[in-house]
Amino acid sequence: MLMQKERELIVEYGIEMSGRGLSVGTSGNLSICDRATGYIAISPSGIDYFETRPEDVVIMDLDSRIIDGSRKPSSEWALHSEFYRRKPNIGAVVHTHSLYCTAFAVLGRKLQAVHYAIAGAGVAEIPCIPYYLFGSEELAKAAAEGCGDGMAVLLGNHGLVACGVDIASAFSLAENCEYVAKLQYLSTSIGKPNLLTEEEMARAIERFKSYGQDADLKQET
Ligand SMILES: [Zn+2]
Repeated sequence: MLMQKERELIVEYGIEMSGRGLSVGTSGNLSICDRATGYIAISPSGIDYFETRPEDVVIMDLDSRIIDGSRKPSSEWALHSEFYRRKPNIGAVVHTHSLYCTAFAVLGRKLQAVHYAIAGAGVAEIPCIPYYLFGSEELAKAAAEGCGDGMAVLLGNHGLVACGVDIASAFSLAENCEYVAKLQYLSTSIGKPNLLTEEEMARAIERFKSYGQDADLKQET
């Protein structure tokens, strides 16, 4: 089976995404890009993560053609493709509707440096783009552009996109973003958080780089 390992990883991380509460029902989607072939393995549309089998994962190319698979690809395939086209250094994209990230996206508010864990995105703040129709070319373009030099972006009234060199790091970043969003929500609801300074964030970002996009970055680090 073409891209068998990547297809299995999509199934595995889809279950993780649902199991860890980063997506509700069939919401959210994920993909892995093999840069050698330019092929993308992407989760299928509308199939429960716990029911998805490797053969349900769809293989597409960067010109949006379906290469293999009998299922419909995720409705956000254009979003995933656009990120791979714009960011040649990434190998995976995770899109979630995780609750706290989406709450800030509903407000049109960026995630701020309430905790150094945000440095996993390579920037001090996670920007938020305006609302665009899900599955649209407009959303794909605005998200990839709005992400800037960082590895994550909030989609207005919609959710989060997190990228990484591989699926483990993209997934870890999505989890870290949700952690930071939850912390920002909690801290702003009881007071005015002390934000980390630009200088502190620059140091944290450098430290993260020396971990080499650590796929296993957890809160305790
Ligand atoms: Zn979505």
